[in-house]
Amino acid sequence: MNFIDLAAQQRHIRKQLERNISGVLDHGNYINGPEVQALEKKLAEYAGVSFSVGCASGTDALLMSLMAYGINRGDAIFTSPFTFIATAEVIKLLKATPVFVDIDPATFNIDAGKLRSSIENIVDQGKLTPRGIIPVDIFGQPADYDQINSLAKEYNLFVLEDGAQSFGGLYKGRKACSLADVAATSFFPAKPLGCYGDGGMIFTDNRELHDKLTSIRVHGKGKDKYDNVRVGLNGRLDTIQAAILLAKFEIFDNEIALRQEAAQRYNQGLSDLCQTPLVKDFNLSAWAQYSSMHRERDRIINHLKSKDIPTAIYYPKPLHLQGAFAHLGYSRGDFPVSEQVSDNIFSLPMHPYLKSSDQQLIIREIHEALA
Ligand SMILES: *Cc1c(COP(=O)(O)O)cnc(C)c1O
Repeated sequence: MNFIDLAAQQRHIRKQLERNISGVLDHGNYINGPEVQALEKKLAEYAGVSFSVGCASGTDALLMSLMAYGINRGDAIFTSPFTFIATAEVIKLLKATPVFVDIDPATFNIDAGKLRSSIENIVDQGKLTPRGIIPVDIFGQPADYDQINSLAKEYNLFVLEDGAQSFGGLYKGRKACSLADVAATSFFPAKPLGCYGDGGMIFTDNRELHDKLTSIRVHGKGKDKYDNVRVGLNGRLDTIQAAILLAKFEIFDNEIALRQEAAQRYNQGLSDLCQTPLVKDFNLSAWAQYSSMHRERDRIINHLKSKDIPTAIYYPKPLHLQGAFAHLGYSRGDFPVSEQVSDNIFSLPMHPYLKSSDQQLIIREIHEALA
């Protein structure tokens, strides 16, 4: 059994993948070829935004967005400590300061109720300038953008949606990656929409931001790449990866529907045993991960391992306790919800082609592990 089954997916689209890759080999425009623009157009339409910018990874999508806002030393960016390192890493890379805000124990997303006091705290201290918020749509479920966006407005902050896990999800009828001033997603192979290498995309309705991002993507280009009006990077999405994504996008909506069915089957079999994931009524999760909580998660994981059933822990250590952020001076106890979730969470195999019979087996073995 696989944790994520990319081979099963490939069997459905192998011919189209080969056609699309051959197309790139035929035209030879490996850098910023027509597939990149075609994908940008399709995904912007899908997300319901005006502009999208393909880039080299989800990490670059976050970094380039912060660069476009001119984030620098002395700036404070509010984010969740319960996420992948990339979310906060890019803040520090630009010499700004990540300010962590604890998460909601039900959704594992940033606790919008705690955000206000955190912002006010930074304002009162008077050392850092509050500039932006990076909510993370953890495991595929969008954060609470109505609350977050209205706070951002009040304090004149921008909001950068980390939609690396949520592309295909919904918040109150609106698509993930359209929920903030700017959004970043990742096409890492294991994400809901993944390529066969690294890739990412940025989404926005803001034309000025879009123009800055297309410049930053190619070394801060002005008229052309030898006219450099700002410092940028080599942050392009490969044409071949765009060609692969175009083939995968054809079946993406169906895959999102299949993920809902797989999640429902787990919910039914496990809700009396574990704290199964809660998706708010107004949300649809892209189910990047199916993550439950149990006080005896190690017992569950070890038992499943003995039966060759893979599991994962996202995330074993919240960011405020990572060595990379030791200089910020946080310690255990600062974000008790994130810490408790990190100690109890575990993720089960999740992908669109997960067989119902395999899920029944997993459910039976979890019952056995806890018997
Ligand atoms: C995967 C991920 C990223 C980074 O994406 P890459 O494409 O691997 O650089 C950022 N944020 C979150 C929440 C992620 O899950």
